[in-house]
Amino acid sequence: MTNERSDAAGTGWARRDFMRLALIEAARAATRGEVPVGAVLVRAGEVLAADGNRTRELSDPTAHAEMLVIRAAAARLGNDRLTDCDLYVTLEPCTMCAAAISFARLRRVYYGAADPKGGAVESGVHFFAQPTCHHRPDVYGGLGESESASLLRGFFAGRRE
Ligand SMILES: [Zn+2]
Repeated sequence: MTNERSDAAGTGWARRDFMRLALIEAARAATRGEVPVGAVLVRAGEVLAADGNRTRELSDPTAHAEMLVIRAAAARLGNDRLTDCDLYVTLEPCTMCAAAISFARLRRVYYGAADPKGGAVESGVHFFAQPTCHHRPDVYGGLGESESASLLRGFFAGRRE
């Protein structure tokens, strides 16, 4: 508890609150007909960017939640290196997003559900463990896992009906 609070630099926000915000973005993505994944980028307890998947809306296969918040935060800070920034994302990042996380020099990644089919952190290519990966964030999985998984299950069950 103490550690969680100190993470948020006096704002009173804890890790689970940032993940809650990412889950809200995921739910919003579902209402837009997008795969429900949400992400939040945080520095020193301040939310720099929050968004959900927009691949359909933008006709952009790279418009994953993680890519959108990394782009928005980098533009806001005027810096392509997001050192000292932490990413909260509801689903294990894919290979593309893991690469972007590494290029952005993010400090930490917190994700919800694992994604054995499309993930690249604890699944698939294990991107951050490859010798060609030159920046490895600290990674913490399983935060808000059940809520994230249930949003995804609901979304895909709805599409099959
Ligand atoms: Zn991705």
